Amino acid sequence: HAKRSGRNHYQLFEAAMNTRASERLLLAGDLRKAVEREEFFLCYQPQVCLNTGRITGMEALVRWRHPDRGLVSPAEFIPLAEETKLILPIGEWVLRTACRQNKAWQMAGYQPMRVAVNLSACQFGQPNLVAMIKKILADTGLEPRYLNLEITESITMNNVERAIATMHEINELGIGISIDDFGTGYSSLNYLKKFPIQTLKIDQSFVRDMSDLHHDAAIPTAIIAMAHSLNLKVVAEGVETEVQQQMLRERGCDEMQGYLISRPLPSDEFERLLHSMMTAEQTIVN
Ligand code: C2E
Ligand code: MG
Ligand code: MG
Ligand code: MG
Repeated sequence: HAKRSGRNHYQLFEAAMNTRASERLLLAGDLRKAVEREEFFLCYQPQVCLNTGRITGMEALVRWRHPDRGLVSPAEFIPLAEETKLILPIGEWVLRTACRQNKAWQMAGYQPMRVAVNLSACQFGQPNLVAMIKKILADTGLEPRYLNLEITESITMNNVERAIATMHEINELGIGISIDDFGTGYSSLNYLKKFPIQTLKIDQSFVRDMSDLHHDAAIPTAIIAMAHSLNLKVVAEGVETEVQQQMLRERGCDEMQGYLISRPLPSDEFERLLHSMMTAEQTIVN
């Protein structure tokens, strides 16, 4: 009896797996069409200086409006895009759109600020990456210092020396590099010292530990101290509460990003934020 129900469970499991696999296959097909049909758009989340409360930059985050499913989360489609290599055209579209939008805001008279764009490991491994970035900057007219590239530690998994060489080339263009989700990857401190990067982003899981309840700031404290001794800037991600903001400020964290300040906003709403900054005194943190 137990055996039979065990097998039933297995069959159910197998059926669920097949459904999931075919779901993913369907979604991958849709993703391919989404590139041509331009179903993507970008949201922008402000990054704020913890000392002055001023917006120093924004992170561009891609969104997919699926014709039937509505909004599909990047947590779902980015891994799929990476597996299918569709991240290459999608990533190029993201980079171009973010640079064009940032330049347009500067031309409209808003205070210039940097835009951070996420790069997948597979984009980073492309031999034409630097040429592509150069071309996008030339086409859009955005100055390189207003672009920042966010990479994760996994980028260096295959070939560390090559990854470092690419980082140098990006730096030579005048573009800054941040390590995203810092503390969740596997890069050794030895490599970290060799990386030509400017910023560490503390992963939101560590920021979450600094809850009103737990007050556990052990890892953010260590990351901030280490980053500063390596002359790196620190940005905290996923800041949702005043307590977290206060604890980060006390520890000398440079910038933060999170729902406490703003969710990622579609471009028209982000522009309204820029506009209110211009008319008010540009400070959005108390
Ligand atoms: P990420 O680069 O670490 O981006 C931060 C994520 O945290 C974003 O999720 C953002 O919406 C979310 N977030 C921001 N503030 C808060 C907060 O206070 N609380 C919480 N709970 N979450 C917050 P999103 O937009 O869903 O993106 C998820 C991930 O997808 C990104 O993580 C990034 O790894 C990837 N991604 C997004 N856009 C792109 C892209 O254009 N290219 C690539 N390669 N990856 C992207
Ligand atoms: Mg990021
Ligand atoms: Mg992150
Ligand atoms: Mg992340």
